[in-house]
Amino acid sequence: MKRASATKPAMALPALIRQLSEAVAVSGDEHAVRSLVLQAVQDSADKLEVDALGTVLATRTGTSRRRERVLAAAHMDEVGVMIVSIESDGLLAIEAVGGLDPRVLLGKQLWVGRQRLPGVVGATPVHLLKDDEEKRPVAFDALRLDIGAGSREAAAKLVQPGDRATFATSFRNLGGTLRGKALDDRVGVALLIELFRSSRFEFDFTAAFTVQEEVGLRGAQAAAFAIDPVAALVLEVTPANDLPPQPGETENVRYNTRLGHGAALSLADSSTLYPRALVQHFAAIAVRDQIPFQYRQPGGGGNDSGGIQRRRSGIPVVALSVPGRYIHSPAALVRLSDVRAALQLARAALSELPRRPARA
Ligand SMILES: [Zn+2]
Repeated sequence: MKRASATKPAMALPALIRQLSEAVAVSGDEHAVRSLVLQAVQDSADKLEVDALGTVLATRTGTSRRRERVLAAAHMDEVGVMIVSIESDGLLAIEAVGGLDPRVLLGKQLWVGRQRLPGVVGATPVHLLKDDEEKRPVAFDALRLDIGAGSREAAAKLVQPGDRATFATSFRNLGGTLRGKALDDRVGVALLIELFRSSRFEFDFTAAFTVQEEVGLRGAQAAAFAIDPVAALVLEVTPANDLPPQPGETENVRYNTRLGHGAALSLADSSTLYPRALVQHFAAIAVRDQIPFQYRQPGGGGNDSGGIQRRRSGIPVVALSVPGRYIHSPAALVRLSDVRAALQLARAALSELPRRPARA
């Protein structure tokens, strides 16, 4: 879908991340982010489509006559809640969409529905808590979302079961540290937009802006099947866990990644063992070009890589992540220098991707 119009000047990276972070796109309802993505890539795409699940597939044709395809993916969706019923007093019962700790929801303000109504998750005032209640974990089905409606009828005029809600968090650039909701994975989406608009490779390059990662890597599986690439790159935000040592520790030995130490290359996570040749290719380019990078410490968690690598006859995949503190909460923090390092490394390593990455 190539447009004759002149290409709009590209938005600066922090401004692009702000716009994406403040859009609401809880899994299964990614419409708001999809609109921004389509606008951002339409002038540079040789082919642009939205699949049946809602994933955006944007392709730039390669310069080589070999018609090899490479896929890069970033997920558009974020964790949040779904309204499941409206009660007689106008309060809304909710369920989690994706991995969300009910404790981080208590007392928080949310944006509710596509019209972003203000809501709050009710919490018992501390005055009324009984002795043992403070110590008990919060159950999701005990939470209620309150939009101020006084009756079921009044609430039903504003929301429907199935509507999503997420944290009402404005984005801030704190002098090179970016704070906002859903930076997992709007930072990856911004990286993929930038990478796509600024690069033409030898191979046909498809950027997949995927849906429903947070509920089981669903969009990525369909996209990988459709494109059938020779290799894939996943652009993500991964937990930093780089906070001060716990009592009894002299240093924090449990970090996954650290802010300000560069882009993180995954070795292993709960759904993927990353092919060594591909990881080493990215690491070698980083060392050669002096791009700051770190290895994400193996452990739990997963990302679209797990959905991609098992499609077709197996697809070699590498994950490059920006470290983020407090992800899946109202406000995550990432460092802009890590975002820039990830972009630089992704572009350089893809430009020199080994001819047959599966066996390299
Ligand atoms: Zn993610």
